[in-house]
Amino acid sequence: MLLRSLPRHRNFPYGWQNRKMSKQRVITNLKGLFTPDPNMAWATQSIEDAALAIQDNRIAWMGPRHDLPSGWKDAEVIDGQGRWATPGFVDPHTHLLFGGDRSQEFNRRLHGVTYAELAAAGGGIRETVRATRLASVEELIQIGEERLRKLSRKGVVHLEAKTGYGLSLESESRLLEAYAELKQRGWSLDVTLMPAHDLPPEFAGDPDGFIRVVAEEWQPELVRRFPGVAKFCDVFVEKGVFTAEHGRQILESGRALGLTPRIHADEFCHTGGAELAAELGAASADHLMFCSETGMKTMAAAGVTPTLLPATTLFLGMRDFAPARRMIEAGCKVALASDFNPGSCACLDPLQILRLGCLQLRMTFEEAFTAMTLHAARSLGHADLGHLHPGARAKVALWDVKHPLELVYWMGEAYLPTILE
Ligand SMILES: [Zn+2]
Repeated sequence: MLLRSLPRHRNFPYGWQNRKMSKQRVITNLKGLFTPDPNMAWATQSIEDAALAIQDNRIAWMGPRHDLPSGWKDAEVIDGQGRWATPGFVDPHTHLLFGGDRSQEFNRRLHGVTYAELAAAGGGIRETVRATRLASVEELIQIGEERLRKLSRKGVVHLEAKTGYGLSLESESRLLEAYAELKQRGWSLDVTLMPAHDLPPEFAGDPDGFIRVVAEEWQPELVRRFPGVAKFCDVFVEKGVFTAEHGRQILESGRALGLTPRIHADEFCHTGGAELAAELGAASADHLMFCSETGMKTMAAAGVTPTLLPATTLFLGMRDFAPARRMIEAGCKVALASDFNPGSCACLDPLQILRLGCLQLRMTFEEAFTAMTLHAARSLGHADLGHLHPGARAKVALWDVKHPLELVYWMGEAYLPTILE
């Protein structure tokens, strides 16, 4: 199993669990090991002919094989089959659960119909909201598992997943119920509450009223119904959708409920979302194609992770990719994510994101890889994911490549790693 970790066997006697937990394993016969260094912002390590020692499902040692301490000589040996070991990918921005798809709309856009025309005809996000409201919890769980299986086959070991295609209290509640069940089944994910993803038809012309209802009624009620399921809250701050002031109301309400803010910001124009994220101490500000220099500096100072979504820019046929290089120079620890969603990024492939990070955001391979592992994990509050240093959870991807650089270099090649955990 990949993204999914084994369920806890609470019914087994403690002795069984303890024996299982204390098992020592060593991965040898690795062509190499490539990992971000968690002690630095942008350093990676590349060790040829490496070994990894694992205790209690955590990395206990990594280094050149011939330096493996003698205490590991009785450990179970796992044959790395001459592959490269890396940490599995972490995807810190997905809209995993929604009903239907928008492939017909995609082609209409290619025929020249504008997004505004589609929306005026009841299409766009409205179409997905209709399909999501019609889906039962069981259908949503099945849809979610299919997508999670695809992502995990491609090397994603943990992800963030948002609500936001229900846009009513009851359908947002069904999305949360489905996420709770997916977590219960052992999928490794963090859930974000995002009822303020768009203005629902029931509140047409009244964004102020909708934001007030979400902040004062829906968010508290959803947290009450599903305690501990959501970890983050999010809001779509964009011209024509919600203002920075609306964003503040939603995120402050979420924070009072124990949720950590994230924010969709500066995607189509500068709205001040990055600055708001810094002011509120958000974990991340996402999209940021039109982020200001001030926004970059304030995010760096406040420790907000700019989460860039280059596949969305590509999918929408836009030219303005987020200014990753300027953000790195400003001191930001940039993360990369898929933004998987039906309207603006139907992408369930982490290697696409890695390649776009290099080719369109002009990040080096080492930077893009770090952004999809270490910084992605940090933005979700997991210091023990996204690297292979001692203490990290042993979610190791084994790639059949001469060097991990090939993952980017051979464009379109569908590498499928073996995941050990
Ligand atoms: Zn999004």
